[in-house]
Amino acid sequence: MFIACNHLFPSSFLIHFPSKHSNFTFFTPPTTSKTLCSSTNAPKKPTRRKSSYGSSRKSVLRKTFKQEQVTFTAPLSDDPLVAIIGGGMSGLLCALQLEKRGVRSTVFDTGVHGLGGRMGTRDIDGMVFDHAAQFFTVSNSMFRELVDEWSQKGFVRQSQGVIGELEAGGHFVPFLSSPSRYIAVNGMRTLADSLLSESSMIEVVRPCWISAIEPYNGMWHLSENGKHRGQFDATVIAHNGKCANRLLSSSGLPLIARQMKRLELSSIWALLAAFEDPLPLLGKTVAPFEGAFVKGIDSVSWMGNNTQKLFGSQNVGQPHCWTFFSTGSFGKRNKVPQENIPSATAEKVKQLMLTGVEEALGLETGSLKKPMYTRVQLWGAALPTNTPDIPCIFDPLGRTGICGDWLLGSSLEAAAISGLSLANHIADFLKSGGSRPDEFAVGLHKDFHPLQGHDIGQFPGLESNKDICEAEVQLRA
Ligand SMILES: Cc1cc2nc3c(=O)[nH]c(=O)nc-3n(C[C@H](O)[C@H](O)[C@H](O)COP(=O)(O)OP(=O)(O)OC[C@H]3O[C@@H](n4cnc5c(N)ncnc54)[C@H](O)[C@@H]3O)c2cc1C
Repeated sequence: MFIACNHLFPSSFLIHFPSKHSNFTFFTPPTTSKTLCSSTNAPKKPTRRKSSYGSSRKSVLRKTFKQEQVTFTAPLSDDPLVAIIGGGMSGLLCALQLEKRGVRSTVFDTGVHGLGGRMGTRDIDGMVFDHAAQFFTVSNSMFRELVDEWSQKGFVRQSQGVIGELEAGGHFVPFLSSPSRYIAVNGMRTLADSLLSESSMIEVVRPCWISAIEPYNGMWHLSENGKHRGQFDATVIAHNGKCANRLLSSSGLPLIARQMKRLELSSIWALLAAFEDPLPLLGKTVAPFEGAFVKGIDSVSWMGNNTQKLFGSQNVGQPHCWTFFSTGSFGKRNKVPQENIPSATAEKVKQLMLTGVEEALGLETGSLKKPMYTRVQLWGAALPTNTPDIPCIFDPLGRTGICGDWLLGSSLEAAAISGLSLANHIADFLKSGGSRPDEFAVGLHKDFHPLQGHDIGQFPGLESNKDICEAEVQLRA
């Protein structure tokens, strides 16, 4: 039998399925009391709205709130397969933890150069830049166990470099007793690429941009621009922002979609710059530093020396590769479509950020030597600014969950814990056979609150404590 479910599939999308199966139904809210697509009365073609939805923010919102809840009723398979859409820290750890619990998964990720999402590293002719996450801290015991394992395997190591706060004018105060900071040995992306190296129950599909998830015959069907990408017993949304809002706007998951829509994200400009000589850090600053949270400069909130961080004293004769990040307010004011940055904007942002670096270091205007290489990039959906403060969200009727940094905070650690938690939750749900869905609903109605922290994330124990740091510096002098 062929049927077209117009509210879920494009009208030209016909699906073949055996008519005796009735494995999913839609729960329809009383206001729109119509079962639109259930295989029991499948041949009836549902009446279709005349106007088709576009992809503007307004229409995405309209779709999000009008969609009906999908309810899977088919028994769960003995050997279920989970789709994970997003191969950042949260998605990868979700996959790994599912494997530990005996559950197979497929990770879909858009990354052309590798996995990792906001654990991005660029290697430009041997010049290496971490262009999002710079380092991470560990406060959770579950995450600590993992990080110890990664250290033993040589994926990560503790960074001994000095970091601290840099005030406009070149006044640097080091964090003298900061929590351990970890970095990936050859840049953050290599950690992402190493994580799955020993897995046997995880398939990675990349580069792949999942553009639709559709419930059909008791399973989730995923596709990339019309190309079928497989069918799954449960789905994990391990990404956020505009892309996730679009994907969820017609998925049949209104509660999940609503929570995702509540998320607010900052925008941050990154400037990657390689200098032939070391930056002049010795003016009024206390000591050369590897990284600094910059205070009092709108165009720069962080500056980090990748070459020092990754190669230490072995960097003799190499260019000095720095990553500079703007503040969130600068990002917001200078926001443009990140896929299509006008060259005039790129140039303006570069100049403003380089001037900001000069001011931060207390250098005379125009005295900073011209970098031999620069590249600007906008992280349009950089970091969450609000959170429901819950490790994961799960809709047992629609057999779909969300993981990601924003559920708990804004850091790699938050993303990791979220991925691990969702995996455990899904594994428990699958083990239950799906017969008691109510017991597994999590976070679908949780309120959000604003997130505090640095422009590039939250690092417990690394909050600036200027008075104490300055006192310690004086005592040691
Ligand atoms: C500029 C910047 C600096 C930062 N610095 C730090 C730091 O120093 N320390 C720290 O701990 N944290 C830092 N963070 C935060 C940290 O990077 C994030 O918290 C973490 O990487 C988030 O991981 P995630 O898995 O939640 O999401 P992401 O890393 O965003 O992963 C989502 C993945 O899903 C993919 N995807 C999206 N849509 C689709 C689709 N439709 N189909 C398939 N794949 C899709 C994306 O391409 C991406 O790979 C920084 C972030 C930014 C932006």
